[in-house]
Amino acid sequence: MIERLAADHADAAIALRFASPLALLVSVMLSAQTTDVNVNRVTEKLFLKYRRPEDYLAVPVEELERDIFQTGFYRQKARSLRGTMQLLLTEHDGQVPEDFDALLRLPGVARKTANVVMAELGSPQGIVVDTHVRRLSQRLGFTRQEDPVKIERDLVKLVPRQYWGRFPHLLIWHGRRVCDARRPACERCVIADLCPSSRV
Ligand code: SF4
Repeated sequence: MIERLAADHADAAIALRFASPLALLVSVMLSAQTTDVNVNRVTEKLFLKYRRPEDYLAVPVEELERDIFQTGFYRQKARSLRGTMQLLLTEHDGQVPEDFDALLRLPGVARKTANVVMAELGSPQGIVVDTHVRRLSQRLGFTRQEDPVKIERDLVKLVPRQYWGRFPHLLIWHGRRVCDARRPACERCVIADLCPSSRV
């Protein structure tokens, strides 16, 4: 399945735009409850103004809130960003730690965020489960669970470790382009013969 999906979605990759580990972390934190397109629109300007952790702490919180307002939940996100920047400065020399547990200790950084960051930094520690990964994993019979943490637990047993970073991108892109939530296009699906939910 991975081979076929990889051939069919060779361009599958993270949709967020970032040029540094810090920008990656901020983008992923801002992407909660909104679309990647929306985050990219906001960060295009944001990253010109906020380049280092200090920059997020140098402005009044209201200013940061205004600058990220369009990503939604801006108060909570501004608080998380500032808390995270504080901790990066005091405990990690202002760098994003390449360590899953250290990432999880940053304010507002949940398992999914830490997973995305680690995968993009080149050392995935788990498998990112978003709405597409959840739906496709269920349709493909990889899991019967609903809870993302339990789904991830099932997936890491099935997916070879070298694919942990790539696998969610393949499912996400397949979910967007072919295996739609309401109208899966099974007739043009490259893994239809392997899928227990296929309608063809
Ligand atoms: S066969 Fe249909 S349900 Fe199964 S993965 Fe393909 S599009 Fe989705």
